[in-house]
Amino acid sequence: MKAFLIDLTKCVGCHDCQIGCKDEHCDQAWMPYAEAQPEVGQFWMKVKQFERGHAPHVKVTYMPTMCNHCENAPCEAAAKNGAVYRREDGLVLIDPAKAKGQREIMDACPYHAIYWNDALNIPQKCTGCAHLLDGDHPISVPRCVDNCHVDVITFGEEAELDLEGTEVLHPEYGTKPRVFYRGLPKKFIAGTVFDPDAEEIIEGALVTATGDAGTFTATTDSWGDFWLRDLPDAEWTVTIEHGGKKKSVAVSTVSEDQGLGDVALC
Ligand code: SF4
Ligand code: SF4
Ligand code: SF4
Repeated sequence: MKAFLIDLTKCVGCHDCQIGCKDEHCDQAWMPYAEAQPEVGQFWMKVKQFERGHAPHVKVTYMPTMCNHCENAPCEAAAKNGAVYRREDGLVLIDPAKAKGQREIMDACPYHAIYWNDALNIPQKCTGCAHLLDGDHPISVPRCVDNCHVDVITFGEEAELDLEGTEVLHPEYGTKPRVFYRGLPKKFIAGTVFDPDAEEIIEGALVTATGDAGTFTATTDSWGDFWLRDLPDAEWTVTIEHGGKKKSVAVSTVSEDQGLGDVALC
């Protein structure tokens, strides 16, 4: 069984994978795997960009997303006439001829990985570039894999991929995705601690986040900055201590990362 591994720690957001997918599939049908992808409106490979935190404590994360080729694929369950099928190698494909008019296939995907082609009246999505894997082509891996020059995306036998410590998107859906991610972003709390009396930043302040989800610590650097990283989604009490002074604030990472800006310790 094949799987994709996407290592976000190496992704620079260049979009070459997305462009490669377009180049491979736009205005080029690869039947019986897929009709041509329209030039606009569909992104079988989509590099999402998230700006997290608040200025000046901001991080940008790039996340290539595609069909997850789920083992328990809702799109397959929703399809009539076997219009969505799973190959022996694990790739989930839509049969363009059988899927005509079946909008429910698109609606069933919880990842919104399927698009509707109005002109052809069919649902379309990533094919895993099955035409390249099966055929006699100069490249024998998916085009997005070939196009990524920093090897963010790997495709191969699941047993041969290093999947330790990886995660899938929305495991709570129960779909058992076969696209694994390394380095999925976790929440952070950041800020700059300063002494308002001395009008100076404070280096070496101890910052502790405590809550039901655990305890995390950081120390302010020579810029007065602290970064509490890899936090779960939770409510926290953040305590800052230095030179006998102490301050606590309530902070939530339930829905977003937190850049606290300048924090006066007095
Ligand atoms: S080509 Fe590679 S580095 Fe560029 S956005 Fe895609 S996965 Fe990231
Ligand atoms: S990600 Fe969506 S389209 Fe892909 S197999 Fe899973 S349910 Fe189907
Ligand atoms: S495997 Fe092929 S179809 Fe799927 S996202 Fe990559 S390039 Fe596009």
